[in-house]
Amino acid sequence: MAYTDDRSSWFEGQGLWQHVPAEQWQDWTWQLKNRLTSGEDLERYMTLTPEEKRGVAFAGRKLAMSITPYFFNLIDRNDPNCPIRKQLIPREGEMFISNEEQLDSLGEDEHSPVPGIVHRYPDRVLFLVTDRCAAYCRYCTRSRLVSNAQDYNFHPEYEQGLRYIESHPEVRDVLLSGGDPLLLSDRKLEHLLARLREIPHVEFIRIGSRIPVFLPQRITPKLCEIFKKYGPIWMSIHVNHPKEATAELRDACERLAFAGVPLGNQSVLLSGVNDDPETMKALVHRLLRMRVRPYYIYQMDLITGGAHFKVDVRKGIEIIRALRGHTTGYAVPQYVIDAPGGGGKVPINPDYLEQITDDEVVFRNYEGKQFRYPLHSTGLKRAVEDPAALIDAS
Ligand code: SF4
Repeated sequence: MAYTDDRSSWFEGQGLWQHVPAEQWQDWTWQLKNRLTSGEDLERYMTLTPEEKRGVAFAGRKLAMSITPYFFNLIDRNDPNCPIRKQLIPREGEMFISNEEQLDSLGEDEHSPVPGIVHRYPDRVLFLVTDRCAAYCRYCTRSRLVSNAQDYNFHPEYEQGLRYIESHPEVRDVLLSGGDPLLLSDRKLEHLLARLREIPHVEFIRIGSRIPVFLPQRITPKLCEIFKKYGPIWMSIHVNHPKEATAELRDACERLAFAGVPLGNQSVLLSGVNDDPETMKALVHRLLRMRVRPYYIYQMDLITGGAHFKVDVRKGIEIIRALRGHTTGYAVPQYVIDAPGGGGKVPINPDYLEQITDDEVVFRNYEGKQFRYPLHSTGLKRAVEDPAALIDAS
């Protein structure tokens, strides 16, 4: 059934946790301590399907399960096909691995000169500063590293990472990721940002985080002060479905924006979650209303146990076609495939271009109408007979 968004309503409140004092509910450390991390925790509030029960039993060997009370409230406990539920509650599909899937599907380990640094592109590095997240997405590209369920032995090492960046003057752009950098304490995060700001060749610092979505309470005034002090800090958040765009997330984005943090969003195209134009359109509209620019839609990486989330690339192209021209240009993200093995992000666009000849470009617009743009000027004539007379007259 096509998704319809109630545009005037933003989910808010404590949901199942009405009995918790508001002060505790708003405390991000309380949210972390009270995460749902086991089948028993979940079954206190809902009935799991047999497929989910098997998934939950397997999760400890692949990627731990963890859901903040705040985010759990967004799950429709009566609908096994709820798009929020699918993202966070493991399913049996995670036990099956296809030939194409790999633990390190983007070849990051091959490009890691020191622990925690991935240096693939000449002028920028990915700095993995933690192996923990507030909640674990079942389609995570870094499931080998995060949550420590696979004994991958990843120990983020700030000092080595910082020294590597300091000694590589070609690095002008640092992306802090992990795990989720905003799970670090204010003190650690401030230390990291301060050290990075001291490096003269680092021009651009950005953070990839799903914390505003799983734990908006973490976006405290104190954290925003840190961003102001060391800004500009750019941030990519990760919202996949319009139901995730709550009043709390909207307010957290506002706090970040007022602290001078430019915000973009990255979504992953997931089967049964957001793989239809109506859902994506509702999502991108909500993002703009929250001061967030839709930036990327990712084709899901070829991660192990992810086949049940996979969407046909033609569906992604159809979604972009349904957005481009049909809504605000700012609302249209770039659809990309991160090339397997480490080839980088490649845009996958609907084909509007039909032909380029020596004389013209032939293309179609969003309605499918054909247009021609001439490449050369012909029959050049003066707009006025005597341009010098215009200067004399002025
Ligand atoms: S928040 Fe990011 S790193 Fe953490 S589990 Fe989700 S996708 Fe993976």
